Amino acid sequence: MRFALCAGSDEVTGVPPRGTVRRSVGWRLTALLVVAGIGMAAGLVADSGDPVSLASLERSFEVLPAASARIRTYTSLRTGLYWFATAWYLTGLALAVRTGIAERMLRLIPRLAGSQWWSAMVVWASLAIFMAVWRLPVALASTHVERVFGLSNIPPALWIGDRLRDLVLEVAWAPGVAVAWWLMRRSPRRWWLILALGLVPVGFLLTVVYPVFIDPLYNRFRPLEDGPLRTRILAMAERAGVRDPAVLVADHSKRTRKANAYVTGLGPTHRIVLWDTLLSRMPRDEVLAITAHELGHYRLGHIWMGLALYSAGGFLTLWALAYALGGADRDNGQPQPLGVLGDPRAIPLAFLALNLLLLAQTPLASAISRVMERQADAFGLALCGDGPATARSLASFSTDDLADPDPSRWLVAWGYTHPPLRERVARALAHESGDARQARPSNVP
Ligand SMILES: [Zn+2]
Repeated sequence: MRFALCAGSDEVTGVPPRGTVRRSVGWRLTALLVVAGIGMAAGLVADSGDPVSLASLERSFEVLPAASARIRTYTSLRTGLYWFATAWYLTGLALAVRTGIAERMLRLIPRLAGSQWWSAMVVWASLAIFMAVWRLPVALASTHVERVFGLSNIPPALWIGDRLRDLVLEVAWAPGVAVAWWLMRRSPRRWWLILALGLVPVGFLLTVVYPVFIDPLYNRFRPLEDGPLRTRILAMAERAGVRDPAVLVADHSKRTRKANAYVTGLGPTHRIVLWDTLLSRMPRDEVLAITAHELGHYRLGHIWMGLALYSAGGFLTLWALAYALGGADRDNGQPQPLGVLGDPRAIPLAFLALNLLLLAQTPLASAISRVMERQADAFGLALCGDGPATARSLASFSTDDLADPDPSRWLVAWGYTHPPLRERVARALAHESGDARQARPSNVP
């Protein structure tokens, strides 16, 4: 390892013995695998509960056919790209660590190396720029696949603009990274706790402001115009106990032919967003079914739940990161495995460790997401009461957007944020025949 504990010097100190590093990194990697394993197990349990009737599953094929050769090819390409992109990203971070990108940058601007604040920000910004360039081939490949399958229509200028916007937003985290590094030096034992506590209000604030400051950088939003659809959505919202929600339309048609909808924001910025592709493609009863699902997220407080889970996850992740990074001040002054606490030149290494931790949490995070999606599905079905329209709207995500209706169980357990379409369509059809009455949420009239 080439990280010194005294920043501003090229002297390499605090280097742990090689054997200690190997043993310790081995233990930490094992811990990551255990976390991923627990998440996978939780995912499989979440997916096996509350079974769908065989009759509904069989009927679902009338609305949602088995995957065509085209869908299978698209799914294989997307899955392959996902794993490749993940490996590519981690390799890029490992390369940034290995080539000492941080030290090179600080050597280039030696005046900054003496200031922890500035050096942390410069290192973060250079890492963000390096990773943005590193990710370009994968981003290009991903867009190419979408184009070949007729799903993307993004003009090159907008594509480049999106990459630049992503980069600016990543670089904008530089002061946050500098604060984290300052905390590490000020409080080597409790920095992770203070940072995790600080991230709670930051997460809350970001959730509130994101829809009004960040989302408009990418898309234009307009209120859903007055008319029969808006009237019916507002009537449905009132039945769900949501008074006068903001229902906006976003211009995603400039990038994609895919359709979607989501709930975002909190308090004054809480809103339901429908993609314009959804409105142009789906009949009104299907749009209502999708909106009923989103009202489920709204009414069931899923944004708040997500925020609480993010905060809890933040504590665990930062504790694990602190444990992984260690420091020379622990264990009777013996250098710890990575021994890099508080050195801005270790930012790429810390970010690599953070990404490994987040990757290991993917199955658990997606299992929790699937539970919430099932709740929103049940709420939406009870609210709109239109099983066939719900089934048709969900099926269109396969027939039009090429989503695999029957993905492998392992893939679902690893990273599906929604239950497989087959299950969702079958539940919608079961609702129509009354099989799913026990799933009716009690707070829907
Ligand atoms: Zn949802």
